[in-house]
Amino acid sequence: MEQVKIADHKRFTAQGKEFVFLTGTGTIFELEPESPAGSVLDHGRAGQAFTQSDLFTLVQGTDREKQALWTDLLAGHVLIDERAPAREQPEYPADTPINTLVLHVTRACNLMCRYCYHDDGNGTHFSSASMDRAVARQAVDFLFDNSGNLPALVLVFFGGEPLLNPKLISETIAYADKKAAGSGKKISYAMTTNGTILTDKVIAFIREHRIGMTVSIDGTRAAHDRFRRFPDGSPSYDVILPGVKRLLDTGTAKPVVARVTLAKAVGDIHQSLAHLLDLGFAEAGFSPVTTSEEGFMLDKGQMDVLLDQFQTLSDLFVEMALENRFLGFTNLVDLLVNLHEGEVRHYPCGAGMGMFSVDPQGGLFLCQRLTHDQAAHMGDVFNGFNRTKLAGFRKDAGLSNKKPCQGCWAASICAGGCYHEAGIRQGSLVSPNLHYCQWIKSWIETGLNAYARLAKEAPAFLDNLSLARGHEPLPESII
Ligand code: SF4
Ligand code: SF4
Repeated sequence: MEQVKIADHKRFTAQGKEFVFLTGTGTIFELEPESPAGSVLDHGRAGQAFTQSDLFTLVQGTDREKQALWTDLLAGHVLIDERAPAREQPEYPADTPINTLVLHVTRACNLMCRYCYHDDGNGTHFSSASMDRAVARQAVDFLFDNSGNLPALVLVFFGGEPLLNPKLISETIAYADKKAAGSGKKISYAMTTNGTILTDKVIAFIREHRIGMTVSIDGTRAAHDRFRRFPDGSPSYDVILPGVKRLLDTGTAKPVVARVTLAKAVGDIHQSLAHLLDLGFAEAGFSPVTTSEEGFMLDKGQMDVLLDQFQTLSDLFVEMALENRFLGFTNLVDLLVNLHEGEVRHYPCGAGMGMFSVDPQGGLFLCQRLTHDQAAHMGDVFNGFNRTKLAGFRKDAGLSNKKPCQGCWAASICAGGCYHEAGIRQGSLVSPNLHYCQWIKSWIETGLNAYARLAKEAPAFLDNLSLARGHEPLPESII
């Protein structure tokens, strides 16, 4: 290899020590003070070409030591061929198997949350269509038929409020269980609910079928009731609390997680998290609302407030982890697991890859938040995928086709960000979310810092975190 270049990377410090995060491989390593590798990295920006003899003039030591360094840096992918692309675009054949289908078992909802993305922007919710048995069965068949050799599949029940269509859920599970038994594959279930219909009977059913539950709840009573209200305007916190507590107190096969939507103003995240964990949730994840209504979006100032609070919570997470205690702060847990497993993403999420969403009529869409968007419509469960459109999406959405993201050190984690948000903020599902680059980089840097501290002082904690996550075939976070 004549000419090499320094791979895309990020240098950062944690606890006074310096570390390097290599974007192309997802590797993190410590840089010893005055280390020769540090001099090489100091030599130039990522992407600048140089030769082996340039390197030999840069560092101190015998020729043998210099040769060993050269070999190590190449083997560690710190130095790469100058012609190498920042990352290869993986080849995804047209029949890439799917492992997750999100079923919109009904569009109907008994709440009318003010920020809801099922709102058409005029304050009117979309149709209240429900899925029927024929569509649900066909969707299950479609999942199995398109799952290739994958051994474990996931069905997610979503809405509207999915528990408004309980008979369909129960029939679909019975059908899918039978199908799984006949195929030798495993199937598991998940559901996102607004918590209004958690009767004893429903909870027993959730337990029996080991359904992984996500409850949409926005924190304390005051935070929750700001926007999560019934159509008549009345608040919902006190209505959902008894059922939610029953669900949490009864104990389910899988940890129950809370999903908090942040709109207009961030509020006190720490207080919300503490409240939700006190209630008995295993974890809570916080997401800024994605809506075309500017009044609900978090503005730049509020996003900065959010980052500050995320950083404080991350510090708390690390302090607790060092005492072998777990803080159920989903946003950081996901990021740490991602870093620990060295995941290098070419796509921001599983939407349109292993995961699709099915609308009540059987239409196949990229994900649960895009079931109203024709650009995300990729066929239907009766006639199959529109392969040409899907192939075009996969090509255009891949990181190597996102020009502004080339050379970005955060790309292997961000990969351009959520398609739904890009559609709203950038005008195209496959555009990178350039409006939030600075924010996401700062957040990833916070994660890197937490990761490096834990990797030095509590590596087993990271292993356990990873074990507790990725080894159940759970879907992408269903939000
Ligand atoms: S959207 Fe921004 S932060 Fe994300 S990969 Fe692209 S350039 Fe980097
Ligand atoms: S990150 Fe965005 S595009 Fe991906 S599944 Fe979530 S909402 Fe859909």
